[in-house]
Amino acid sequence: MTKPFLIIGGGPAGLAAAHSLASIGQKVVLVEKENKLGGAPILSGYAKLVPSGEWAKDAIGAMVERVTNNPNITVQTGATVSEFSGEPGAFTAKLSNGDAIENSASILCTGFTHFDSVNKPEWGFGTFPDVVSTTQVEQMISSGKGVRRPSNGDKPKRVAILLCVGSRDRQIGREWCSKICCTVSAKMAMEIREELPDCHVYIYYMDIRTFGLYEEIYWKSQEEQKVKYIKARIAEVTSDGDKVIVKGEDTLVKRPITIPFDMVVHAIGMDPNVDNMLISSVFGIDLHHWGFLKQENTYGVMGATSRPGVYVAGSATGPETIDDSIAQGNAAAMSALAAVVGKSMAAE
Ligand SMILES: Cc1cc2nc3c(=O)[nH]c(=O)nc-3n(C[C@H](O)[C@H](O)[C@H](O)COP(=O)(O)OP(=O)(O)OC[C@H]3O[C@@H](n4cnc5c(N)ncnc54)[C@H](O)[C@@H]3O)c2cc1C
Ligand code: SF4
Repeated sequence: MTKPFLIIGGGPAGLAAAHSLASIGQKVVLVEKENKLGGAPILSGYAKLVPSGEWAKDAIGAMVERVTNNPNITVQTGATVSEFSGEPGAFTAKLSNGDAIENSASILCTGFTHFDSVNKPEWGFGTFPDVVSTTQVEQMISSGKGVRRPSNGDKPKRVAILLCVGSRDRQIGREWCSKICCTVSAKMAMEIREELPDCHVYIYYMDIRTFGLYEEIYWKSQEEQKVKYIKARIAEVTSDGDKVIVKGEDTLVKRPITIPFDMVVHAIGMDPNVDNMLISSVFGIDLHHWGFLKQENTYGVMGATSRPGVYVAGSATGPETIDDSIAQGNAAAMSALAAVVGKSMAAE
């Protein structure tokens, strides 16, 4: 009899992989290290998602619900895999809580870690209270408290959003584009304008990468909500004791600019999961040279890693959107199922 499938990580990719296998009658064990499912959109309290405009708690909450209600899926929260041995069709995973899970294949959906802006100290995060990250603004909106200056609780009248914080930055060893932060920032700028119509919102950018259909959000932010875009290189963020001051160069007119704001928002990027070295050693799989979990090929077996029987999906492989993470979760589930079912049929 086929052993269950083991999914590691209960974010959008892991929830999709678990649901698709369970919905065709396969047994699944889903292991999540935090004490609740949902991944970054739930754990970090995102507000409305792009591109759908649905609240994260509703859209991803529904994915969590259908997994927790499915009798074919056993969920273990607050656990990680500490040992993994065996071969395709007959693996054993030992968990940090002492359980051992026999499984026929594993899918790693362990996601990413948000860039910590203290690693970009010249841009003021951690030094000035009114310099915050996009996740903090998502939480202000999703909690219903609204966007307020952390220093004094006032409604901001001028907000700057700085793009590419912790992405496309060779100086701090992060060469990749995090793919979604331009679109998330354009959406966030519109949310701020909707809540606070008197607040002026500026987006400082190197390039705008609202790829594919997401370009609509870029245009809407300018035409409907009057968000202003400044092409600039930021040198530093300082403070006069009240305002936070963004200094840099306007790269279109090639002039230095110094502009005071009530709040500055860092559009933080997607780092490799801090657990990836450990995951790579426990599961015996290769890492991409930037630290993400490496996919064995691009166009062949979707989600294959360097170890047969171990698959990967979602932002564990590199910066990904939610919809692409879900698609990859489903694709990896199909790859794992085909390998396991194909093997058991050959044995009959
Ligand atoms: C500020 C911000 C806003 C965003 N907004 C959007 C948006 O509106 N729309 C959109 O499409 N994308 C958005 N994204 C991207 C989105 O967060 C990702 O696409 C999505 O979270 C990827 O899902 P995932 O399942 O691959 O990974 P994650 O959401 O990171 O889930 C991974 C899960 O694995 C668990 N885990 C990690 N390590 C282990 C381990 N060792 N053992 C067990 N479990 C583990 C984690 O706790 C987590 O639950 C945003 C990103 C940022 C930074
Ligand atoms: S998506 Fe935009 S903000 Fe994010 S890293 Fe790429 S260019 Fe920078």
